[in-house]
Amino acid sequence: MSTIQDKQLTDITVEDIMISSEKVAHVQLNNPLEHALLVLVKSGYSAVPVLDTSYKLVGTIGKTMILNEILGIERFEIEKLSEKRVYEIMDKEVPRLSKEDQFMDGLKMTINYPFVCVADEKGYFDGILTRRAILKQINRDYYQNKAK
Ligand code: AMP
Repeated sequence: MSTIQDKQLTDITVEDIMISSEKVAHVQLNNPLEHALLVLVKSGYSAVPVLDTSYKLVGTIGKTMILNEILGIERFEIEKLSEKRVYEIMDKEVPRLSKEDQFMDGLKMTINYPFVCVADEKGYFDGILTRRAILKQINRDYYQNKAK
């Protein structure tokens, strides 16, 4: 079986380089914004996927979206953190990839997003592909070709 190190960029699929769902921090649709902000701050990520109760991908939510939502005229309206829920403010129009997509599909998508969610044909969440993973492979490919 060939390892990822042996593969050409054109042979790499999204599955080869994605972070699988068990390792991805996420929040659920019905979580209060307070919980989402805690997950974001504790994990250090700027945004994370939003899943429904059957683990289907339904959107993403980020720190800036939450802070904008609670921003009042003169202060942060902290009470909104427990009143509002993730589904009310999340971004529902998120691009997605499938595990079978090619490296180049992932490259094109991560030009505009620091990470892209990966889901199957029924919408079940499989993981994320980060821009970091794409750049790592391009870097590896560059030095391998230079050494030839
Ligand atoms: P990175 O390329 O590792 O800096 O990740 C870019 C973005 O992808 C982060 O800011 C997060 O929004 C998201 N991300 C990366 N790794 C994870 C993870 N394990 N769980 C949730 N989100 C992640």
